[in-house]
Amino acid sequence: MSDERVFVSHAPGDRGLVEGVFRSVRNLPLHVHIAGEEVDDGRDRTGLRGRIDESDAAVAMLTEDGATNQWVNREVGYAVARDVPVVPVAPRTELIGGYLEDRPPVELHDEAIHRTVFEVFSALRRELTPLGGLDTPKWYLPFRCTTDGCSEPVTLKIDRDQSDLWRLHDHGRTIHADCEACATRYHFEPATLGLIRREETGSE
Ligand SMILES: [Zn+2]
Repeated sequence: MSDERVFVSHAPGDRGLVEGVFRSVRNLPLHVHIAGEEVDDGRDRTGLRGRIDESDAAVAMLTEDGATNQWVNREVGYAVARDVPVVPVAPRTELIGGYLEDRPPVELHDEAIHRTVFEVFSALRRELTPLGGLDTPKWYLPFRCTTDGCSEPVTLKIDRDQSDLWRLHDHGRTIHADCEACATRYHFEPATLGLIRREETGSE
């Protein structure tokens, strides 16, 4: 999965929103390219077509601004023409234009952004998981142990499916990974994959 690339198209004013939605997803070994981080506001984005060509999936942020933005419209049209699957993210389905009408949309929940994060992650798992190879967890989150004096690599394996992760979230549970060197346990939010807390089991 480490070679997989995701392109995110959005209106310039939505960059903060996009970065918030992708904050924890970016910790996965994926290459997430956010349009506004690659080309400054108001500049020509035609040069990003190469990014779209090399992407395995694209996400289109179709807020009120995004749905009418010329760059978003062009990038979506280009991705569709190049057979790059596009995931539309919108606060209401009326904002999703003709190109994407048959794509399953992700709802943008302003009041519950964790649901949007979860649904974007679900959509990426759907688009990027190839058939076969089910014995090794394809989704994982690699990081470095942050305990004093330890910087060992730790891997959070994401071997549950999305409905399981949401169920754990609903029950206030966490998913966790242990550092093999110092036994510190890292707890993550199952829906958003955000780090919740560190538990130093070895020292007690
Ligand atoms: Zn450690």
